[in-house]
Amino acid sequence: MYQNSLEYAQQCDANDPLSSFRNRFLLPKDTDGNNLIYLCGNSLGLQPVSTSAYIKMELDDWAKHGVEGHTDAEHPWLPYHEFLTKNMADLVGAKPSEVVVMNTLTTNLHLMMVSFYRPTATKHKIIVESDAFPSDKYAVESQLRFHGHDPKEGLILWTPREGEELCRFEDLEKIMDLHGDEIALIMIGSTNYYSGQHFPLKKITELGHRHGCMVGFDLAHGAGNIQPDLHNTGADFAVWCSYKYINSGPGSLGGCFVHERHANNPELHRFAGWWGHNKDTRFNMRHEFDALSGAEGWQLSNPPILSMAAIRASLDVFAEAGFDNLREKSIELTGYLEYLIDHLQDDRINIITPRDPEQRGCQLSIQVKSANKALHTELTKAGVISDWREPDVIRVAPAPLYNSFEDVFEFVNRLKKVLN
Ligand SMILES: *Cc1c(COP(=O)(O)O)cnc(C)c1O
Repeated sequence: MYQNSLEYAQQCDANDPLSSFRNRFLLPKDTDGNNLIYLCGNSLGLQPVSTSAYIKMELDDWAKHGVEGHTDAEHPWLPYHEFLTKNMADLVGAKPSEVVVMNTLTTNLHLMMVSFYRPTATKHKIIVESDAFPSDKYAVESQLRFHGHDPKEGLILWTPREGEELCRFEDLEKIMDLHGDEIALIMIGSTNYYSGQHFPLKKITELGHRHGCMVGFDLAHGAGNIQPDLHNTGADFAVWCSYKYINSGPGSLGGCFVHERHANNPELHRFAGWWGHNKDTRFNMRHEFDALSGAEGWQLSNPPILSMAAIRASLDVFAEAGFDNLREKSIELTGYLEYLIDHLQDDRINIITPRDPEQRGCQLSIQVKSANKALHTELTKAGVISDWREPDVIRVAPAPLYNSFEDVFEFVNRLKKVLN
């Protein structure tokens, strides 16, 4: 069905109902003013054209109202996070009461573990996937240490089999059968940042719950990429960032999900702050902490409005495009990338990301045997922005909001030249 030609790629773009969304983003250019082939939305998503106007609106309201902007701004700052909730919840398949935008990813992961990692003397271990993102691994190890456990003993890795790149669910089942009694928490990156493998979240949650474990996911590479359908997975918590696929700017705020079954549980420990307190009495400043119901009750501080304005701008673009439409295009676009790479018929190349679209998002991790970072340097010189992971993997992530079929065609064309 796919064809290996520029004309075909251009035809796909012409037939793509979402193609005009590319113009809603600022595309990085080289020094001659030509668009770069930007395939790094898995690391930092591009800036929507509308973002500066959304931020400027808050700067103007600050100039105009000073502190009164908390109530008098066009989008009042006191409830500003609420303007993000519905769209963010839709993006991850959650109920609005289960989602809040706050803090940053690793901070939220720690806050969630304060509440949902409650080890006992006999049941205290944590499972993560073996190639977990370093920050997640550090967070989990430090929580083990904080509770008096040695990570060498307390951290269990879910690893691919010898000679394989991907984790198998049956191996996680085996670990649970052997060690389930000792495991308190399963914390998995929903879509692995290195391999691009997307895990079966609902099956993992059910497995964990059968063994009396809490289950949480890091959606850093899932949110805005794959619909994780969070509520229906039954996961206890999830965290993600907004600067990768959610295009909200470097270091922008994270999202946090707490399943509604935990919304009003007074037994849960949590680290509290005034923004998680009952809105009606927050400014009386005298009351005992009275947690808001749902995910909002985990907020600590009044949030940075300028960053939230950027998130609002981006979520409005997602809502306009429709996530199901985006996902449909994404499957086509990444399928085209896969087809073209296969057509190179180069023995050095091995796509380590799963072939099944259900088990991946838009990213393909392309292993180039015997290559080193010089390959990536050459690709960059050729006008491709991609990502290199040692020892030999190029990660490319065509984002359906702003990448075209022609981008994908051009990338593979340039890769081929660089490889020769
Ligand atoms: C990007 C990423 C992070 C980064 O964490 P920050 O707290 O936002 O700096 C953490 N974990 C995963 C899985 C990531 O992909």
